[in-house]
Amino acid sequence: MAGRSGKKESKQNAKQGKGSKINDKGVLLVPPPKSIPNKDHMQRLNYLFQLSTFHTMVGAQDKSQALSRMYMKNLDLIQKKTKTALTPGMKRQICKECHRVQIPWRTVTSFIANESKKKTTQNQVLVLTCQCGSSKRFPFGRNREYRTHVEKDNLVYMQK
Ligand SMILES: [Zn+2]
Repeated sequence: MAGRSGKKESKQNAKQGKGSKINDKGVLLVPPPKSIPNKDHMQRLNYLFQLSTFHTMVGAQDKSQALSRMYMKNLDLIQKKTKTALTPGMKRQICKECHRVQIPWRTVTSFIANESKKKTTQNQVLVLTCQCGSSKRFPFGRNREYRTHVEKDNLVYMQK
């Protein structure tokens, strides 16, 4: 009997794909990827982003953040050339106009705008205004539970 049930289990595992399992809550557990494609590009982009953030935080006397912006411009060029996708969180922190890192109180100011007549909370928009004058608008009032795919909690990787 034990042998039979074992066979059944192995068949089920084969159906679900390589090494994936479903836990008791019904969440599909996927093993972490064994290799990262374009690892050197990823590392370079990550390094440039951290360098740019560092120089924005440290170089307070440089009002135009020239060095920091140059690194970020470089990141943008490499990202486009290699067609590497940035995570939404990273993308939101870069100004499209001047390539500044968006750091609150240093390079960006924020306020909540509501341009609707009834001033309902549904129409609240978070406005981030960069030093260069351009602004990003996030209509968070419509769906406060909105998460991008990467930010979702149910992305569970198996523990090894
Ligand atoms: Zn800007």
